[in-house]
Amino acid sequence: MSNNPHGPTRGLLLMVVAPSGVGKTSLTRRLVADHNDLHLSISATTREPRPGEHDGRDYHFVTRERFQEMIAQDAFLEWAEVYGNFYGSPRAPIMDALGRGESVLFDIDFQGAMKVHAQASQDSVLVYILPPSLAEMSRRLHARSQDSEEVIHRRLSRAKDEVADWERFDYVILNEDFDRAYSDLAHIYHAERQKRVRNPWIGNLVADLLKEEI
Ligand code: 5GP
Repeated sequence: MSNNPHGPTRGLLLMVVAPSGVGKTSLTRRLVADHNDLHLSISATTREPRPGEHDGRDYHFVTRERFQEMIAQDAFLEWAEVYGNFYGSPRAPIMDALGRGESVLFDIDFQGAMKVHAQASQDSVLVYILPPSLAEMSRRLHARSQDSEEVIHRRLSRAKDEVADWERFDYVILNEDFDRAYSDLAHIYHAERQKRVRNPWIGNLVADLLKEEI
């Protein structure tokens, strides 16, 4: 249960979308580490683990056959094909967290975020993280030397398409300085949790308050 002494709160689905190399992973992992009522949705994927990635922590690494089975069982809230691999958000842990009044953070791509939003528009909050410039994004992608020139070029042109859709997001954060961007993200989460519609217990509190003699 959410640990609000007054009554249940309604969790939110926080979707954080950013082009690769914008620092999204560091921002989202820190937000989850700092909030025990916020859980990271661990996606299933058919792509190979990268060095340092752990099954069950970064992703659930599954075969294509297993992924197809999960689609057939309606086990995903959304799924998508990204750069030739499949990625999906398992439904059960998300529903469990919401059932406890807790929130879920999604580190997913643009199309996935839009699909979740279409299914749960009241509960979803869409955040886009902007790189200071495409030149800076390109510099960071080269610096981490994970991708070929061709993949970097694809990531940059995809970023350009997505950024053009910035008005579909509730919030846009500029990640020029990590601490500043983290503070913006944490404030967004805190304010969204405080929204009246997510705190139905306020109605009872107000009713009691109005009964008080003055
Ligand atoms: P990567 O392979 O670099 O970890 O992720 C590639 C892209 O897939 C990223 O944009 C990431 O956010 C996205 N992604 C990861 N998990 C999911 C998911 O469950 N659903 C969707 N739609 N995209 C995902």
